[in-house]
Amino acid sequence: MRILIAEDDAIARMVLEDRITQWGYEAICVGDGSAAMKILEAENPPQLVILDWVMPGMDGLQICRRIRAQSEGSYVYVLLLTSKNRKKDLLEALEAGADDFISKPSDTNELRLRLNTGKRIIKLQNELRYQITHDFLTGLWNRFAIVSMLEKEINRSIRYEKQLSIAMVDMDRFKQINDKFGHQVGDTVLCEASSRMMASLRSYDAVGRYGGEEFLLVFPESGQENARQICEKIRLIISDTPVPLQEGMIWMTASIGVATMDHGEKNQIDDLIKRADDALYCAKENGRNRIEISVV
Ligand code: GH3
Ligand code: MG
Ligand code: MG
Ligand code: MG
Repeated sequence: MRILIAEDDAIARMVLEDRITQWGYEAICVGDGSAAMKILEAENPPQLVILDWVMPGMDGLQICRRIRAQSEGSYVYVLLLTSKNRKKDLLEALEAGADDFISKPSDTNELRLRLNTGKRIIKLQNELRYQITHDFLTGLWNRFAIVSMLEKEINRSIRYEKQLSIAMVDMDRFKQINDKFGHQVGDTVLCEASSRMMASLRSYDAVGRYGGEEFLLVFPESGQENARQICEKIRLIISDTPVPLQEGMIWMTASIGVATMDHGEKNQIDDLIKRADDALYCAKENGRNRIEISVV
């Protein structure tokens, strides 16, 4: 696990780095608060941070407050390490959002054990975060997560005047698969459809399970034609090869409704989803295993 050490005293920093490296952590060391903040605001920041209180640039408490003000991103566990040791200081640190507080000079064993606590909390936080954002069966984003992403993408596309498309994918006659082979086979087929969809997406697209056998796909910076092409790929990858199971070769198909954001729409998210849904309904009506595009 990576640990960010922000400490302006070079010797103290080296001692800390030496210790935590021995305990199997990977140390990222900086000597001032601004450099620490830069790392914490970059992509994929370390989740465990040892912060000195008094530092040039930003001090430890300012960094804590800034970390806690961010609603997004993984949980960052902050251990404040400082020569301040009065009760009042402890309260101030906790108030700013520090998780723990050690007075310098720190006892080696105490530091190691307190870092263990941090690791435990980070693990729990990450598991919780995974569970509230992922679908249990397929491992895809769940409805809550994919709709949140869509909201974000809509805002981004308005801000930067970019295109945005979405698709609703619904498995065809899925009830028949369940009826014929049983619910467990149905589950396996849903998982297979999910991984085939995942495999067809670009890294910045997203797919989530919207409901039972229905999926919502988000294509940032994509117009109608682009989205149609990706959906055609998805339609083919789902229908081209059967799922090989003990019960036999199980063929599956899906119908897809595509909608592209219309910047003039009032109720962006609801209207966009409704149009994709209507297009999906047309795809079903028009014979299934096909794509229909919503035209405004
Ligand atoms: P259509 O082509 O019109 O979409 O037909 P359909 O049978 O797929 O549609 P319908 O909405 O009638 O049925 C959806 C089926 O999907 C019924 C439901 O039991 C099944 N289903 C939904 N979620 C799951 C799931 O998690 N596992 C399994 N095995 N089946 C599911
Ligand atoms: Mg200092
Ligand atoms: Mg269906
Ligand atoms: Mg359905």
